[in-house]
Amino acid sequence: MDKRTKIVATTGPASESPEMIRDLMQAGVDVFRLNFSHKSHEEAEKVVGMIREARSSLGRPAAIMADIKGPALRLYGYAAPLEIKPGTDLVIESYTGKSIESRIASEPLHVYTNLPDIDNLCAAGQKIILMDGYFTGTVVRKKEGAVVVRLGNEGMLRPKAHLTIPGVDYPIPFLSDKDIADITWAAENELEYIALSFVRCATDIEEVRRLVQRVAASSGLQGTPRLIAKIESARGLQNINEIIAAADGIMVARGDMGVEMPIEMVPIAQKQIIRKGYLAAKPVITATQMLESMIENPMPTRAEVSDVANACFDSTSAVMLSGETAMGRYPVQVVQTMRAVIETVEREFDYQEFHRDVPPEVQHGDVPAIMSYNAVSVAYRIDAAALIVLTETGHAARLLSRLRPRMPILAFMTDEKLYHQMALNWGVCPFLHSGKGKRLDEVVEEVLGICKRQGALRAGDRVVIVAGLPLARRGTTNMIRVETIT
Ligand code: PEP
Repeated sequence: MDKRTKIVATTGPASESPEMIRDLMQAGVDVFRLNFSHKSHEEAEKVVGMIREARSSLGRPAAIMADIKGPALRLYGYAAPLEIKPGTDLVIESYTGKSIESRIASEPLHVYTNLPDIDNLCAAGQKIILMDGYFTGTVVRKKEGAVVVRLGNEGMLRPKAHLTIPGVDYPIPFLSDKDIADITWAAENELEYIALSFVRCATDIEEVRRLVQRVAASSGLQGTPRLIAKIESARGLQNINEIIAAADGIMVARGDMGVEMPIEMVPIAQKQIIRKGYLAAKPVITATQMLESMIENPMPTRAEVSDVANACFDSTSAVMLSGETAMGRYPVQVVQTMRAVIETVEREFDYQEFHRDVPPEVQHGDVPAIMSYNAVSVAYRIDAAALIVLTETGHAARLLSRLRPRMPILAFMTDEKLYHQMALNWGVCPFLHSGKGKRLDEVVEEVLGICKRQGALRAGDRVVIVAGLPLARRGTTNMIRVETIT
């Protein structure tokens, strides 16, 4: 069996060639992430073409995820890095006019931000973080429409540096014009996932859901990308329950979370979000700095290996690589390392204990939930080699996945987009079949034949099949059947 925990890899200059995409897939990548903070549509189109070519020539599923910039605060007004010394006073002025990106300030150490009313939002003494934690400072004075920040350490402040004001709710719209254009592009190009940065509440997700539905309707497309909410602020964490209910998946975006909130809260938030995510049968991605030192070095630190392992022990659905595969020196080795850590944890994990300990609401939910829980119980009782699920929307496979069973979930579907989407789900091996409109016995014969031909099952193996009757009707999971492979 392939590994159960999935790997998301961010593409970038180090990985955007047809050969490298193929090598990364063979090393274990299940989902490719395109970061739209750094990508034009022309560049994205090329990379999407390479991924589609690689997954079709390898005959394997791989999902493509567009990561949208979202309501981030940045500094503008200077074209070259600014030299900062301990005690430097930097004036940060709100600017809400057009072309902030090309505007240059006339005074040194004077910059602009896209946050309106910074002087009203910050009191003297407010902590300010720049460049994702590289610089910290304090508001020492206010000016009309601006604040003066005294910085505490030295270094070079990069143009468009990220600005964070911990504890402040930023009054900026969730989507900028660029975000709307990027989301529209991702929906028109039928990407499998869109990840949304800095989601604050369910309304943010609902706004994007309406947008992708409008794009699909006007382009005559059937499906829309599934929406992943990146949790990276105190407000996102406060509203985690409603966000999980509204989204199709969650990302623990530890990079920004570590500056928006006290950094020591990150591991606690990670554990809480992962558990809430899998209980809701939604995939959860643990992201950022997982094997960061491998951007430069051929071996990770022991602490990084423990971090990946612990995310797997927490039962994350997927672990993510960012700079490691986007611009690192060892993109293939980093995926191989991550895979080795995952496989080692998966040999140790106590799957049956996990099954015994799932809370009552998961065991006794609606009919599909009850059927899934009992299918896994039967699979343990008969020592099944696999669970087979016939799924129209992916929901039945996700219900099995949340139970983190020891045996592979061989998920059969007829829709190609769903086939690639399911590459993100823990323990799910997606397969395509032609079963629409046929009788159950014929479909079972077809899928068992595919399993045998592809080497997923051998004669003598017992399997538990989960399906909904009538076939091809959504949300009807109501059948468990045991078969022995002949
Ligand atoms: C993060 O902040 O952890 C994250 C994944 O988001 P990004 O890399 O887009 O900043």
